[in-house]
Amino acid sequence: MKELTPTVGPPKRSCAIAIVGGGVMGLSIAYQLARRGLTDVVVLERGYLAQGASGRNGGGVRMQWSTELNVRLMQESFVLCRHFALEIGVNVWFRQGGYLFLATREAEREKMERNVALQNRVGVPTRMLSPEEARAIVPELDVSRVVCACYNPKDGVLFPWPFLWGYAHQALARGVEVHLFTEVSAIERSSGGFLLHTSKGPVKAERVVNAAGAWSPQIARLVGVELPDRPHRHEILSTEPLKPFLTPMVSVLSSGLYFSQSMRGEIVTGITVEDHDDDQVKMGSRLKFLTTLARELVRVMPRLADVKILRQWAGPYDVSPDGAPILGEPPGVPGFYLACGFGGHGFMMSPVIGELYAEWLTSGRRHQVFDESRLDRFSKVRPPGGNGHEELIIG
Ligand SMILES: Cc1cc2nc3c(=O)[nH]c(=O)nc-3n(C[C@H](O)[C@H](O)[C@H](O)COP(=O)(O)OP(=O)(O)OC[C@H]3O[C@@H](n4cnc5c(N)ncnc54)[C@H](O)[C@@H]3O)c2cc1C
Repeated sequence: MKELTPTVGPPKRSCAIAIVGGGVMGLSIAYQLARRGLTDVVVLERGYLAQGASGRNGGGVRMQWSTELNVRLMQESFVLCRHFALEIGVNVWFRQGGYLFLATREAEREKMERNVALQNRVGVPTRMLSPEEARAIVPELDVSRVVCACYNPKDGVLFPWPFLWGYAHQALARGVEVHLFTEVSAIERSSGGFLLHTSKGPVKAERVVNAAGAWSPQIARLVGVELPDRPHRHEILSTEPLKPFLTPMVSVLSSGLYFSQSMRGEIVTGITVEDHDDDQVKMGSRLKFLTTLARELVRVMPRLADVKILRQWAGPYDVSPDGAPILGEPPGVPGFYLACGFGGHGFMMSPVIGELYAEWLTSGRRHQVFDESRLDRFSKVRPPGGNGHEELIIG
């Protein structure tokens, strides 16, 4: 791939679309817009590429979801992931080793069976497994607590960083400006759109996309919109490299533990640990995470008891009240588009959301996901049985 560096100097004074946030979501939208010929686009990123959640995640990509819409969206994301290397010209180490979910409570069985039936109906080959069948896939598992499992051999894992570089590179090559170390500090609304104040000067934009992840409430507040998503610290670590032995991503539903083996042999693993949630994005590492994770991991995989940890880090989940994304224009601010609230699954969703957003912004064709993910769903009375949105499970 020919070397292309992010845009230097101040951003151009005006553009059709300004995207706030150079994470995977903003860059995917920028690339897809440019691919459709809309290149008058400026991406404004406060730090370096991969500074936010996009540079800190586990790279898990799965089709196992509990709503038909999400299963279908992820089927589409898979097609894009499979073709990414050829289309974008960068290897993202995409590997379809499957996802194995373990249920340790009888109460989880019914939901698991329902999800598997839904996924099968939509064409995803997930199957229910007994504990022994799960152990046939990962012989090192201690399945004494496991009541059942489900497994889709087509799910997978990728390496996040080249994904961002690839999108940025191809957007730049088509004429999009990508400005790093460029912070958006204020947004004025005007008749022709918006005036963004950045640390490198002002930019007028007809339309603005808020793709600032866990910082999206702060960006929305600049145009007077209060978003309900909040940052939640999610921690993760990687171990010394081991000889390859683990094919799927494994996840324990009750604890939120997940682990996979990278192509370099490291075990990459995380778990949900409570935090004192407030509006601040926190990225510090905690001993509490390390001990919680070590205990649960060794319970499930006793043979990992002596593995050495090389690196521990944290990143922000951007969590909406119902665990589903917040998309589209907020009431009263036409031309300001939200792409946030993706929790622990924004990376895998970014290829398809980028594509659908670009289609909407260039042709006016609006996919069903934008209607289902509107901000104003939080101010409406929910119908009995919920609104069909996804519960939050691991990435
Ligand atoms: C530890 C961890 C593990 C995860 N595992 C998975 C997984 O396995 N699979 C999966 O699909 N997802 C996973 N996720 C979630 C996934 O990483 C996110 O959903 C996704 O990366 C969100 O992308 P984004 O572009 O919306 O946000 P980000 O990548 O956070 O990008 C937002 C950007 O906005 C910039 N910004 C903020 N304020 C401003 C401003 N004022 N001006 C300019 N720029 C600004 C930030 O610097 C940042 O770069 C995980 C997340 C974490 C933290």
